[in-house]
Amino acid sequence: MSDWEDEYGEDEGAISEPSVVHKATSKATSNTNIRNEYFGGKRGGKVEREGPQWRNWRERDREVKSPVERPASNRALTLNLDNSLIGRVIGRGGATIRELEQSSGARIKINRGEHEGEVLIFGNSDVQQKANHLIKELIGTGRASEPRLHYGSKSSGSKSDSCWSESAPQASAVSPSTSIDWKAIRENRGKYEALKWKDLPPLKKNFYIESDSVAKRSTDEVRAWRKENNNIFVDDLKEEVKREIPNPVYTFEEAFACYPEIMENIIRVGFQKPTPIQSQAWPVILSGLDLIGIAQTGTGKTLSYLLPGFIHMDLQSVPRDKRGGPGMLVLTPTRELALQIETECNKYSYKGFKCICVYGGGDRRAQIKIVTSGVDIVIATPGRLNDLQMNELINLRSITYLVLDEADRMLDMGFEPQIMKIILDIRPDRQTVMTSATWPTGVRRLAKSYLKDPMMVYVGTLDLAAVDTVQQTVLVVQEEEKKAYIFDFIQNMEPEDKVLIFVGKKIVADDLSSDLCLRGIAVQSLHGDREQCDREEALQDFKDGRVRILVATDLASRGLDVHDISHVFNFDFPRNIEEYVHRVGRTGRAGRSGVSVTLVTREDWKLAGELIHILERAGQEVPEELVLMAERYDKHQKEKEMFPAQSRGGRAQRGARDRFRGGSHRRF
Ligand code: AMP
Repeated sequence: MSDWEDEYGEDEGAISEPSVVHKATSKATSNTNIRNEYFGGKRGGKVEREGPQWRNWRERDREVKSPVERPASNRALTLNLDNSLIGRVIGRGGATIRELEQSSGARIKINRGEHEGEVLIFGNSDVQQKANHLIKELIGTGRASEPRLHYGSKSSGSKSDSCWSESAPQASAVSPSTSIDWKAIRENRGKYEALKWKDLPPLKKNFYIESDSVAKRSTDEVRAWRKENNNIFVDDLKEEVKREIPNPVYTFEEAFACYPEIMENIIRVGFQKPTPIQSQAWPVILSGLDLIGIAQTGTGKTLSYLLPGFIHMDLQSVPRDKRGGPGMLVLTPTRELALQIETECNKYSYKGFKCICVYGGGDRRAQIKIVTSGVDIVIATPGRLNDLQMNELINLRSITYLVLDEADRMLDMGFEPQIMKIILDIRPDRQTVMTSATWPTGVRRLAKSYLKDPMMVYVGTLDLAAVDTVQQTVLVVQEEEKKAYIFDFIQNMEPEDKVLIFVGKKIVADDLSSDLCLRGIAVQSLHGDREQCDREEALQDFKDGRVRILVATDLASRGLDVHDISHVFNFDFPRNIEEYVHRVGRTGRAGRSGVSVTLVTREDWKLAGELIHILERAGQEVPEELVLMAERYDKHQKEKEMFPAQSRGGRAQRGARDRFRGGSHRRF
């Protein structure tokens, strides 16, 4: 385990395996028996549920549409092949398997025996069939023979074990030298897509009626408005012919005059005017276009996608109760953020839309119960949703409005494979909105893969926006002095102050909060090792002001919306400068000003230069020691380049080890 926090909650991190995979032990197991074994035997009894006893949405649909039994696809679909063919499925260094997984969305595992082996295909039945077909294409080009295929399996290995042994010689008769025709496989993928999505109801996307006042705005006026409002920049990412970029709305009425219930909600909540991102995003999203919003939490980005999403769902041609699943999905990196979005959703409760939050660490059974009883909006962390999807407990085909919230953070946390699998089950003509605080290559790639001809709205500049509502103080200190600094800071807190203290490791969060408790100071802590209910309580206590000090890991650096945090104290410097900006942005919110105090030790020298850049851009004081530190680091880097051999084994190696231990998939 890393010294830095290494694990998410139950599924905040990447779940690489479907969580429930059972193999049948009897080759003659009937479909019905397979299901009974799974739900009755292996899981220790049925999930108790009111109303009709569906185990998943497919089953419910079958009940309505057709009595035909299908194999339960939370089981592996198994192909028995001889070893020469298994080798081809694997490919050099696993390359073919990876390509197959990517093309199909299934997860593939190989069990090799002496002469033959099993290819186990996991996932829902669509992706299993897709992978099965691709494998057949791969190994059987130009041949009539079928690989042996069944659900569940004998334990793999010897030839005589195969329950499909008759066809074995045919499958293994293929020349191993047949080359893989990826072109044909890709073409077939297109055919699959078309088949998969036929029979879907038509989709409506454009609900925008531009008011006269908005239409009349001149180009110069709009340009000036964008400059004054956080320097908003809008771009059309459609290649070739560019479209007209909608003018911003200045008032709620200009966006929602035709939707009185939305207006009522806004009036009830008491907001004065749209935030800059809302002004520019609403006309784009309401027009049915995909949108990328580069904006931080605190800018009003959640409402910028929620309100148009409500209208989108409400005005689809198929009534809500006939859709067979949710209409809106919001994917978000952490439970805290998911819960926060849920609160926003419920605050504006539009036309009684039912919303559920699906996240790791939450009560899985309860979540399944709500999901299967019918919801309109699902707000989920990718790990848990992928788990429900793989077990066919949620129908994603009905989703027409998809939001990828804080995309950069989701990538940072290693969720890309889950996102990919989830999106494979969502209709491709959906409307997609993506938000991100930064615009690195990974996020661009995600946008290119999953959004169609999007418009992009940047709030602030594209590179890291310096937080200009926060007075930032940086103190260069020794590691062993840090506690004295924090105790001194706390002693000098005013009664109305509220401080969020960031630490790098879970153990430091525990250590520091118990030290403070021992001194009789009321404090809460938030990190990934705490039970979900404790995390929620800690946050609530801090929000409500029952405690005014919260010690947290970077779990709290993004997204947490507590308006009245007066101070951010960086006890440990974050591991990258983006995280610094996110942490500091927890204060100075909703028009208030804030203060940040950051302790920097010589261990943090490699980020000194970037920190100076941020401070300078925000017009903050740059301490002399920080400049010296940055210069020393630059010098050290130059020496390393000139004399690489000398630095081997020293700091460089430690750095590599730390990177390895911390990993790029950070867990808080
Ligand atoms: P977000 O960026 O979505 O995390 O929003 C931060 C906070 O701003 C949330 O508490 C919202 O309720 C609030 N908010 C959203 N829109 C507005 C608005 N137009 N005026 C004032 N506050 C808003």
